[in-house]
Amino acid sequence: PAPLVQDSDPQAVALGYKSDATKADKAKYPKYAAGQQCANCALYQGKPTDAAGACPLFAGKQVGAKAWCSAWAKKA
Ligand code: SF4
Repeated sequence: PAPLVQDSDPQAVALGYKSDATKADKAKYPKYAAGQQCANCALYQGKPTDAAGACPLFAGKQVGAKAWCSAWAKKA
């Protein structure tokens, strides 16, 4: 599988990505709400049971199911 995105990766920093969604920077991203995570983001490509999956914003890598970034969008 593709390597996991690290919080320190430049793209992760740019998007406010945190591998632990609860560590999201609430001051910088006031739209973050508890419960938001990659697993329930419209862009997440992983299966519900997967610990990580692809995201088009992080080409060639995997994002954690319990991670979050500022591009989070509610699944329709
Ligand atoms: Fe996770 Fe969605 Fe951000 Fe991709 S866009 S890293 S799936 S929150």
